[in-house]
Amino acid sequence: MKRRFALAALIVFVFLILIALSLGAIWYITEPVITLRGEETIETSVKEGYHEPGYSAKFRFVDITDRVEVTADLDEKKPGEYSVDYSVCFLKKTANATRTVIVTDKEPPVITLNGGDTIKVLTNSSFEDPGYSAQDDSDGDVTASVETKGIVDTYDPGTYSISYRVSDSHGNEATKVRTVIVEGEPEVKPEKVIYLTFDDGPSEAVTPEILRILKEYDVPATFFIIGYYRSEENIDLLKEMLAQGHTIGIHGYSHEYGEIYESVPVFMDNIRSLEDNIRSDLNYEPFMIRFPGGSSNTVSKDICEGIMSKLVAEVQKEGYYYTDWNVDSGDASGNGISAEQIVSSVKRGCKKNRYNIVLMHDSGAKGTTAEALPQIIEWAKEEGYTFAAMEKGGPTVHQRVAN
Ligand code: ZN
Repeated sequence: MKRRFALAALIVFVFLILIALSLGAIWYITEPVITLRGEETIETSVKEGYHEPGYSAKFRFVDITDRVEVTADLDEKKPGEYSVDYSVCFLKKTANATRTVIVTDKEPPVITLNGGDTIKVLTNSSFEDPGYSAQDDSDGDVTASVETKGIVDTYDPGTYSISYRVSDSHGNEATKVRTVIVEGEPEVKPEKVIYLTFDDGPSEAVTPEILRILKEYDVPATFFIIGYYRSEENIDLLKEMLAQGHTIGIHGYSHEYGEIYESVPVFMDNIRSLEDNIRSDLNYEPFMIRFPGGSSNTVSKDICEGIMSKLVAEVQKEGYYYTDWNVDSGDASGNGISAEQIVSSVKRGCKKNRYNIVLMHDSGAKGTTAEALPQIIEWAKEEGYTFAAMEKGGPTVHQRVAN
């Protein structure tokens, strides 16, 4: 009897050992498993952001999803490649899974134009861009990187475009265009005024004679001068201009198209070096520029395409006025143009219902210009015109840039 009991106990003991061994074996060969929902690599954008698609974890038949720990150093606002790590620990066994998240930026910045996409301004009024801003979903405020292009000439009614362009740091580009309509009657209706302007001087051969005639008839004028070598004779001529009440503008230290229209910095240097000389020799602030060849010249195009548009914007940004002319005396159309031809060109060009800005020259070869001057003045006075020198804030004429 005792023996049978002992045998049964042994069988039970062995049975329990076997169960324990098989449980141990099951534990030994089983690993926890993490299953990721969705793709292992997810591509998203700064705009869309990252949304966790979910996961589950099991240890054999036991759901251990709520034990999963997720760690990620993900910056959705910053494009790049990130990883999201999942790990779970159960009965001293661990499992890991990783998901790759690629954040891209394909969204361009957004440009906002203050004052609207289309604006209207009055003829002859001053135009100032009402401003703009640019925001990017990844870079934030990118207003400072906006490049603008285009000019508005309120002296020439018509429709103009200003374009705005900006890229974010991932190469997404945004552009916007503002339409500016210049229209309406000029605010001030000028009448019977002539501005005589003399370019390319001073010269010893012609400038003294022109100054003498202007003084005799008591007519003010404006001289757009070039580099004058700072000689005593030339400085005296310039001082005489100011003493007589004329104004002096900048034509440029050099007049050589091939040199001055090479680039914006080269052109500005050519302006500034002359300006510096004028300032120190005459204690006078020249404020007005006349581009050699005028702003509508087509020679600069062959030297540097598009440069006139840039220069017109640049000089105004730097606070200069520039002026072309609306009456051409024709004295530069060749040497030896007769005084009669010059007189008749001016008579033909002047109109009584506007400002007349007359282009003339006082360089050494323009003797017939001085010869024509008394006749022009006498004719104009008879016709009821008055004369004025160009002044800061006064009228200017702009021809259409053609580059
Ligand atoms: Zn010139």
